[in-house]
Amino acid sequence: MNKKHAFNDFTEKNYARLLKAAKINYQFKGYADYKKSGKMIIMRHDIDYSVHRACSLAQIEARQDIQTTYFINLHSEYYNIWEKEIAQLIGKIISLGHEIGLHFDPMFYEKDPGNLVEHLTWEKSILEKLFKQAVQVFSFHNPSVGNWLDVKKERIGGMLNAYSAYFKENYHYCSDSNGYWRFERLGDVLKEAKEVKLHLLIHPEWWTPRAISPRRRITRCIDGRAKKQLDLYKALLKKWGRKDIT
Ligand SMILES: [Zn+2]
Repeated sequence: MNKKHAFNDFTEKNYARLLKAAKINYQFKGYADYKKSGKMIIMRHDIDYSVHRACSLAQIEARQDIQTTYFINLHSEYYNIWEKEIAQLIGKIISLGHEIGLHFDPMFYEKDPGNLVEHLTWEKSILEKLFKQAVQVFSFHNPSVGNWLDVKKERIGGMLNAYSAYFKENYHYCSDSNGYWRFERLGDVLKEAKEVKLHLLIHPEWWTPRAISPRRRITRCIDGRAKKQLDLYKALLKKWGRKDIT
């Protein structure tokens, strides 16, 4: 198998190992320190599919005294921030000392794309009110759909743009998009440690307790959610003494 596809790279155990390796040569910093000097890592987590997975990684990081930023999508088809359980998990991530950012989906506003600042400001305020936590940074969801990578401005709508020119010019970027390493393996980047500034994008759903294929990692999220919804329905019928006719 191509080493960049190695399923073993994407386990919780290996994530903990990578964090440990990272701390040898780098300091983990938040977005507030993005212009500071020295060897540092800014860790970004775009939550695309699973807040449960995000919470697991948040705990692994907290055990190593590492704080990172979790970007939340208000329009995800895979989770709903207004659900009690999801909101509680995000609350837990915050209580572990992590920050939250906005994972902004511009395609939601396809019909009214002109008001980017307004949309960003509105979504920022929703997150801040719901989770009582300041939101200082945003990232575009699926930025290549609609040329959002061309939006190079550093600050928009009162937030730092994680895709701004500053990060492109000053940071080395490494991402686990789609559950494999498209360019370099993170383990190699951390071991060589030749870059001064690292901007790492880790999507929590690609990291699981056991080594499985990227497709299985996604069906795991989807099946887990579906099962929970069916259990809720069954519990409701039971509570009200109704028949479950199949
Ligand atoms: Zn995304």
